[in-house]
Amino acid sequence: MSAGDSMPRFDAADEAALLEAIDRWIDRELKPIVKEYDHADRYPAHVVQQMRELGLFGATVGVEYGGLGLPATTYAQIVMRISAVWMSITGIINSHLMLALAIEKFGTPAQKTRWLPKLASGEIRGGLALTEPDAGTDLQDIRMSARRDGDHYVIDGTKTWITNGAEGACVALLVKTDPSAQPRHKGMSLFIAPKQAGFTVGKKLDKLGYKAIDTVELVFERYRVPADHLIGGAEGQGFYQVTSGLELGRINVAARGVGIADGALALATGYAQQRKTFGKPICEHQAIQLKLAEMATRARAARLLTLDAAAAFDRGVRCDLEAGMAKYFASEAALENSIESMRIHGAYGYSKEYDVERFYRDAPLTVIGEGTNEIQRVIIAKQWLKRNPIA
Ligand SMILES: Cc1cc2nc3c(=O)[nH]c(=O)nc-3n(C[C@H](O)[C@H](O)[C@H](O)COP(=O)(O)OP(=O)(O)OC[C@H]3O[C@@H](n4cnc5c(N)ncnc54)[C@H](O)[C@@H]3O)c2cc1C
Repeated sequence: MSAGDSMPRFDAADEAALLEAIDRWIDRELKPIVKEYDHADRYPAHVVQQMRELGLFGATVGVEYGGLGLPATTYAQIVMRISAVWMSITGIINSHLMLALAIEKFGTPAQKTRWLPKLASGEIRGGLALTEPDAGTDLQDIRMSARRDGDHYVIDGTKTWITNGAEGACVALLVKTDPSAQPRHKGMSLFIAPKQAGFTVGKKLDKLGYKAIDTVELVFERYRVPADHLIGGAEGQGFYQVTSGLELGRINVAARGVGIADGALALATGYAQQRKTFGKPICEHQAIQLKLAEMATRARAARLLTLDAAAAFDRGVRCDLEAGMAKYFASEAALENSIESMRIHGAYGYSKEYDVERFYRDAPLTVIGEGTNEIQRVIIAKQWLKRNPIA
């Protein structure tokens, strides 16, 4: 995504036409299959092809590289719409776009020309490989190492929880090029790592939700990658390159939370008007009205916070605080709305024949991904204090 001055012009009419096309696609293609594919935990290859045709693999990639160059506000609305039906599918594009963002923002001109057009078209799909078995939140504690060997690097180590790791063809791989560096982040580098000898897909992780999308362990053993795959061409930039993509990453996760909160609310709204107890629809009982009021308010507040953060991102201003608040609030809204919707559905909410159980299984991921909500609040507080120093 090109923030600020370099942002391509994308007007309201373009946005409306694109969002209408997305809505039609969701109604026609996603709604009829979501339950079957989600329960079978089956990768929807034909949906991926459709997403390619819609241009979604290049949604936030600059038009000069064949992407759509969408503003974050438009992209967030796409993610909200898809997540209101099937959140998993957004993971196929979100982490792919984080890989593309790292190259677009920090890659050398040759790296951009070589990789971005293929990423934007979806010909090459991938993700972001940061987490290791012993390092998630404390990213600077990763152990994967890259040792220079002539005009190559040799990489050894294991990543885990990597989305798109099995179906994708390459990942942005965070490693230590200087494990003894102090501070630790100065020894970290980010590589474009295509699948080839030495890169093995390990265990597929069996998850509570976020089904139908591959999340796996990746094992690197004497993996030789040419030195020109080091993003930006200089060692020691990896931690900065990864964390500077977090604003957009958090807006993405916030948008997923908004979608889940909206989807769960829509199901509850419909059910509460149909289900009758004591001779009237349950929506006429005040206890249910209170729930609907809280759910609707949370969903709307989450949407406004997310669009506010996205708009700040599009203006090219610093928005770490806004993106953090949106991510925190929207993911908690997703969690709360999914359980409240389930309660409104009574026993049927607990049935796999109804859709609400999917929201209930998917929502917790949004409080974990792109910085857990425990850490998110610590970050919000630090940034808040920084912006509001005592006079
Ligand atoms: C479905 C799924 C998909 C994922 N996809 C990807 C992916 O594509 N790429 C990738 O790199 N990673 C991915 N992840 C990993 C995810 O980013 C990590 O799980 C996340 O960063 C948290 O790390 P952890 O699980 O190691 O938890 P830990 O860091 O071990 O944290 C455990 C608990 O301690 C809390 N905690 C930790 N440190 C502090 C502190 N200083 N103060 C207060 N509380 C603290 C955390 O909030 C959490 O509650 C995925 C995870 C899941 C579940």
